[in-house]
Amino acid sequence: MTDKQEELRKLPSVDRLMQHPDVAVRLETDGREAVLDAIRTTLEKMRAEISAGSPYPGDAELVQRIQARLASTMRPTLRPVINATGVILHTNLGRAPLSEETLQAMRRVGLGYSNLEFDLEAGHRGSRYVHAESLLCRLSGAEAALLVNNNAGAVLLVLSALARGREVIISRGQLVEIGGGFRIPEVMAQSGATLVEVGTTNRTYVSDYAAAITERTVALMRVHSSNFRVIGFTHQPSLAEMVQLARERGLWLFDDLGSGCLMDTQRFGLAHEPTVQESIAQGADVVTFSGDKLLGGPQAGIIVGKAELIERLRRHPLTRALRVDKTTIAGIQANLLHYVRGEALTKIPIWRMIAMPVEEITARARALLEALGPSGARCELIPGRSMIGGGSLPEESLPTTLIALPEGDATSLAAALRLGEPPIVAHIQDGRVVLDLRTVLPEEEQALIGRLRELL
Ligand SMILES: *Cc1c(COP(=O)(O)O)cnc(C)c1O
Repeated sequence: MTDKQEELRKLPSVDRLMQHPDVAVRLETDGREAVLDAIRTTLEKMRAEISAGSPYPGDAELVQRIQARLASTMRPTLRPVINATGVILHTNLGRAPLSEETLQAMRRVGLGYSNLEFDLEAGHRGSRYVHAESLLCRLSGAEAALLVNNNAGAVLLVLSALARGREVIISRGQLVEIGGGFRIPEVMAQSGATLVEVGTTNRTYVSDYAAAITERTVALMRVHSSNFRVIGFTHQPSLAEMVQLARERGLWLFDDLGSGCLMDTQRFGLAHEPTVQESIAQGADVVTFSGDKLLGGPQAGIIVGKAELIERLRRHPLTRALRVDKTTIAGIQANLLHYVRGEALTKIPIWRMIAMPVEEITARARALLEALGPSGARCELIPGRSMIGGGSLPEESLPTTLIALPEGDATSLAAALRLGEPPIVAHIQDGRVVLDLRTVLPEEEQALIGRLRELL
């Protein structure tokens, strides 16, 4: 008998492993199937290692590997992370964190039944599309509103329902790719509307739109250049000029705003971000935006505008395909109520972050370094910039104070921060890992300190 066979004989049976106290406890929490699967997979791997020449590492090691396997298979792949990048609307990190009230509303509706599509007064079937409408109309000044799954869906729906087989005129400077493969020309093609490009990359005049109008034209479209900025010798007509031309020629005007800002961004030293109210006040007939960008709520696509057009959207089959979930409607309503009550800056996390003065960030950073003790003394506070991100306010940033971690192998340190629990995502700047507390929620600070203590 060879050594390998002798080693293989040492492997315990599945039954014996099931009875091991450290494995048996997992039967209660993870269920028999998952435990059995972890045992079989781990045994199989170990058998292969032994056949390749390794000695049997012992029962303790085997049980530990089974536990690790269980932990990794039972752990949801989507889990919370700490965003220390200072990018407020980080699309890869889930865009807007939600307010307590928003989550409570989502929880209440999610835990039980609701009047999602039930008219309580009449006692019969109602429509899910009525729910956030009055709030959206009140805040935007629009006649009607409709919620769908996300803004990409909203744009596709508007073009499919209102412009299929017709021409829509758009400036060459606005044929944008938002990211994640959302390109305006491709969405146009998908909707069956014909894209008519006018002007040049940097300059488009209202006369360019006027010259391109034919009997097949149905609308003029403006797209917010969400994630880039053209500077220098540039011109785009104002929305008011475009509305005037559309009115004169019997067309409607579609404004894809993207970020869906309801607040004045200039009071925070940022550039002016076009707001939904302005767009409606200037006469846009249909305006689309996201629920989870500068609105600061759950993912959704929001369409506001003229009642007659919104009614046509409601009846289109795509609306059913893009329909919004009950918990989302509850969250959007609760988030909109923060604006109605005038408490957006204190209650909506992204607005709290935008409004947070640099002095407050500095104070939080100092307190964090103190809590770290001696390893805190090896860190440094340096001035930096927090980005708005998420396809809004391109290139706009806010002053911040960064915590620069001690010098060393920054790539390895950043990876170690990402791979622990909770994962921490941070930038590397000038060869050092830097943390921006603007995007770290106060309730996450203890966990951040704990991880830094381990690593530094
Ligand atoms: C972000 C954005 C979209 C896509 O919105 P999602 O909610 O991500 O689907 C479409 N248009 C503009 C102008 C945007 O900024």
